[in-house]
Amino acid sequence: MRKTVLFITLIFAFTLNADLKNSLDKEIDSLMEKVIEWRHDIHQYPELGNREFRTSKKIEDHLVSLGIQVETKIAYTGVVGLIKGGMPGPTIALRADMDALPIEEKTGLPFASKVRTTYLGNDVGVMHACGHDAHVAILMGVAEFLAKNKSKIRGNIMLIFQPAEEGPPEDEGGGAKMMLAEGIFDKYKPEVIFGLHVTNIPNGVLSVKSGPAMAAASTYRIKIKGVQTHGSTPWAGIDPIMATAELIESLNTVVSRRINIINNPAVVSVGMVESGTRGNIIPEDSLIMGTIRTFDPDLRKEIYEEIEQIARGVATGTGTDITVEFDVGGFFPVTYNNIKLVEAMKPSLMEASPGRFYESNIPVTGAEDFSYFSQEIPGMYFWLGVNKPGIGLESKNFGERTGAAGNHSPYFYVDDSALDKGVKAFVYLVDDYPKQYN
Ligand SMILES: [Zn+2]
Ligand SMILES: [Zn+2]
Repeated sequence: MRKTVLFITLIFAFTLNADLKNSLDKEIDSLMEKVIEWRHDIHQYPELGNREFRTSKKIEDHLVSLGIQVETKIAYTGVVGLIKGGMPGPTIALRADMDALPIEEKTGLPFASKVRTTYLGNDVGVMHACGHDAHVAILMGVAEFLAKNKSKIRGNIMLIFQPAEEGPPEDEGGGAKMMLAEGIFDKYKPEVIFGLHVTNIPNGVLSVKSGPAMAAASTYRIKIKGVQTHGSTPWAGIDPIMATAELIESLNTVVSRRINIINNPAVVSVGMVESGTRGNIIPEDSLIMGTIRTFDPDLRKEIYEEIEQIARGVATGTGTDITVEFDVGGFFPVTYNNIKLVEAMKPSLMEASPGRFYESNIPVTGAEDFSYFSQEIPGMYFWLGVNKPGIGLESKNFGERTGAAGNHSPYFYVDDSALDKGVKAFVYLVDDYPKQYN
């Protein structure tokens, strides 16, 4: 008798187990039509960090129409939804970022963005060049499916639509850090968080790296002050441009000559130099801004010290006043993928995109503020390949970013045919986690 009961229980459990995935198989085609339509619409009307008003409203309307409990205006434009499952279990958080970049789109797509705005005082184009349009559309699709199938969910699903992943305007704060500061994890208490990012790897590839997956990103800003003079009489002033040139050369020696990168890679880049108004004036000021990428906190501190030392040296040598500031626009920690969690959840990714799973062992020097969430609770952040079908498949390494323009390029392209793997990945993770991990 006991055996029979156990047997029936097992069959029942198996039926429930298969249910969410089976239902998705039946619904995925019609669901993807909507996901792709949302993606194109969001792509055509991109918005910069903390200004995702239209995107946020679209998400809110969608979640409300599905009967999902919704909170809005978190960290400016963030939206959080909670789907209560029909069976007991943990709260699982799924995250999508919503913001675009100050880049003029050059893809030539029929739904390419023509949006322009003012950014740091300049007129710029706005483009979803990092694919966050795809992230939002995928999670809206996942929300729709899960809300309609909530009786089959174990636990609760917390949907996080996050603003300003690319960094908020300088004096505002924002993103994951601000959503946490406003208490979203205190209120909903998720046990685990999953997030994905589209990138230029082969179509439909789901790739994950255990442990440190993406770099910590720091910023630096160096202000150089000289004495303005006519370009014909440089001896009458102090030239900040010469000091800037020396600084740029020396900054390139930080990684190549000054620190030990045998165990942990690091990057120091100059991304912005600004000085002067016309050719015959030696200006008073100059400005350098750049980024630092590291995987080790001690090495990061060492790099800060090296940059300060270089600045002191150049100031003394040129007679300029030089100030160095770090992380003015914020700081992103290392994106760390919980090793036990990755091990347990890899099969779900394999099942979501058969034959296209890739476990990477190479950390990415890009950074992600998903890292703030995965500092609080175990997290797994994975890649979804969105190349045109066939591109990059010749590489033995599915994690290699080849054959297509990368994220932040004005030509960055997302192939719609890959997005169903993102929807499936999230649904499979939600279905498997309560059984696999606990
Ligand atoms: Zn980006
Ligand atoms: Zn991104």
